[in-house]
Amino acid sequence: AAKQAGRDCYRFYDEGISHTMRQRLMLEQQLRLATQPEADLGLELYLQPKVTLPAGQIQGAEALLRWNHPEKGMIAPAEFIPLAEESRLILALDRWVFARTCRTVKRWRLLGLKMPRISINLSARHLQEPDLVNWCVETVMSCGLVPGDLELEITETAFVNLADMVLKQLVALRHAGFSLALDDFGAGYSSLTYLCRLPLDVVKIDRALVADLCQDERAAILLRGVVQLLDRLGFSVVAEGVETDQQADLLHAIGCTTGQGYLFYRPMPADDFIRVYQDYCIAIDF
Ligand code: C2E
Ligand code: MG
Ligand code: MG
Ligand code: MG
Repeated sequence: AAKQAGRDCYRFYDEGISHTMRQRLMLEQQLRLATQPEADLGLELYLQPKVTLPAGQIQGAEALLRWNHPEKGMIAPAEFIPLAEESRLILALDRWVFARTCRTVKRWRLLGLKMPRISINLSARHLQEPDLVNWCVETVMSCGLVPGDLELEITETAFVNLADMVLKQLVALRHAGFSLALDDFGAGYSSLTYLCRLPLDVVKIDRALVADLCQDERAAILLRGVVQLLDRLGFSVVAEGVETDQQADLLHAIGCTTGQGYLFYRPMPADDFIRVYQDYCIAIDF
């Protein structure tokens, strides 16, 4: 009987794995189809404004991918980005976001609407792709934009082993005119040497550091020092995940003048963003 139970157990375990595998393969396959140029399979462009602290004036926006799955409904990036990062699928997803952002900005410009600079997340994997810079420049130009209209956010895990290729690509992107941001700074892999070696314009402070800010005096001392350091090195600093007035005030007090977070705006569909932004532009004209 024990043997029987053991075998059942084993079978259960085995089926468990293959079920998960099947699910993953299916999601991957569906995602891949969704990135086809004319596919309408639920990928959506969301934008989250970046604002001045503490007043909340809109300075820019970050493009964030959403997947409104035909059957499962909204799936968060946390569920499919890591999956996509394991293969070249992430390249297709990022290029979808990049191209969609360019086309969206083009459409708005044709309507005479003003746009702030938009930032796009690029996975570390792109930095190993020889055609990255050409592709980005061509896509931007084909929509009548210039690289300076966009900022590229790269997570610091991209630099864990700082290959020559990675550095060369970053230099080329910046030389082409893109603004470069280091994303999730302070989240775990930070090496201070990146700050001197990489051609960066912006450093985004991870929301974990912001979350601790009001809880703990030492966290506030740390962040004050980090912001001063970044400022003296000539970077613009953006705080991520600003959720409370208290955080916004304290960030402002320690010298951080740009932020992003639910306190101000949640990520929203691109069409909602353009409405919010036009209303905002009209309001500040008075
Ligand atoms: P990220 O680039 O650091 O983006 C910021 C994340 O923080 C977004 O999560 C945003 O919705 C969330 N957030 C903004 N304000 C707040 C706040 O006040 N509180 C909290 N708790 N969260 C806030 P989202 O959209 O779920 O994306 C998660 C991550 O997935 C992103 O982190 C980014 O690393 C990745 N991601 C999203 N879209 C793309 C994409 O198009 N390409 C790539 N490569 N990665 C993407
Ligand atoms: Mg980002
Ligand atoms: Mg990130
Ligand atoms: Mg981040």
